[in-house]
Amino acid sequence: MRFGTMLGDIWGSFFKKPVTQKYPFERLEAPDQYRGKLVWTPGKCNGCCLCIKDCPSNAIELITIDKKAKQFVMRYHADRCTYCAQCVQNCRLECLGMAHDQWESAGLKREDFVVNYGSEADVAHILATYGTPSAAEPAATAGPGDPAPTATA
Ligand code: SF4
Ligand code: SF4
Repeated sequence: MRFGTMLGDIWGSFFKKPVTQKYPFERLEAPDQYRGKLVWTPGKCNGCCLCIKDCPSNAIELITIDKKAKQFVMRYHADRCTYCAQCVQNCRLECLGMAHDQWESAGLKREDFVVNYGSEADVAHILATYGTPSAAEPAATAGPGDPAPTATA
């Protein structure tokens, strides 16, 4: 590059808007299709465990409280998730989704990445019964025919 051209580029860059964002002070909106954090809507879930069977990362567990009453807690390990959305595609009841606006995942401990989905009472019950798993502990891999970890109400 010639010296004159270089000087021209340097001079020109003084008057250009920066291409970088001042994150975290400025946040761009992620596209609708962006795969952020996994979210679970318990209403329709029938406990079939297909999502768990198809997850390549053992990132989700379904803890059954009362299968007949469709009472479950889903435990999501965000630090293991590869955001492949396989579980979302395989849930026939559309209980799962990937929140495009929840993409900031940072924490100081691995436990910060464990999310328990379910009603407040059910989550409290599960935490009191099983506690929070250690980061090294593998997720439960209960399939459709296997008994899921069961808690009695
Ligand atoms: S695949 Fe859907 S219905 Fe089946 S356990 Fe997972 S979330 Fe529930
Ligand atoms: S998005 Fe992929 S890795 Fe994450 S929980 Fe679903 S199937 Fe597992």
